[in-house]
Amino acid sequence: MTVIFGPSGLGGVKEAIGNLEAYHKLGIKACEIAFTYGVYIKEDKDIKAIREASEKYGIKLSIHAQYWLNLNSAEKVKIEASKKRILDCLKTGEKLGCYAVVVHPGYYGKMSKEESYNNIKKVVIELMGEIKKNKWKVKLCLETMGKVNVFGSVQDIKSLVKETECSFCVDFAHLKARSNGKMSYKEMVSEFSEFKEWHCHFSGIVYGDKGEKHHILTPKTELKELLKELKAVKNKCNITIINESPDPVKDSVLSLKVWNEINLN
Ligand SMILES: [Zn+2]
Repeated sequence: MTVIFGPSGLGGVKEAIGNLEAYHKLGIKACEIAFTYGVYIKEDKDIKAIREASEKYGIKLSIHAQYWLNLNSAEKVKIEASKKRILDCLKTGEKLGCYAVVVHPGYYGKMSKEESYNNIKKVVIELMGEIKKNKWKVKLCLETMGKVNVFGSVQDIKSLVKETECSFCVDFAHLKARSNGKMSYKEMVSEFSEFKEWHCHFSGIVYGDKGEKHHILTPKTELKELLKELKAVKNKCNITIINESPDPVKDSVLSLKVWNEINLN
């Protein structure tokens, strides 16, 4: 069982391999490729080279799917377009040897929470069917979200995992913001402790009544608090923590340092 750290961001196609080598030298073992504004790694030769470099340097890759997604849109055409974007990420992710594709599920909009849940569940089941049909190994991870009016509470995500067999991305900073600081890291960790494989996001965060405002550098005190809780479950879970602060490489190295300190004591 392992806990590994890495940044959000692989860089452009031309910098990707150099960045993987640099991450490796820093002790980083994970990296999330940001397809948040589109699938920018297109050529098969680039896909192959990046995959080989990630294997050589022992870096576990994941993908963050496009921000512009809504699996609960009132317009069917928007749901179909969202599905297509996710499928493009899954397809490229599989070729890249990525283990996970992270997705922001959608918005409640004018719909009730229950109706939103059922709409999103239906699309997730379809996407899981595509993964099965294509025999892809890459996992579809639905993320816990930081704004109160956005689908993605702990309950939303856990129920989807149980009912559709999809995977999850627990964003500890988002949950802190969504609960207006009320939910402790201990509670968050305990909510997901029944699962064996965790894909996670973390950073500092600024929030208000409506939840998340923006991500900031990761305070060391927060890191310590979270990692202490993760130490308690490390023997039964494989945990990947992607840092999403404005300086994600530096904060991944800091996370690793704090993690090593905690485990020495
Ligand atoms: Zn995200």
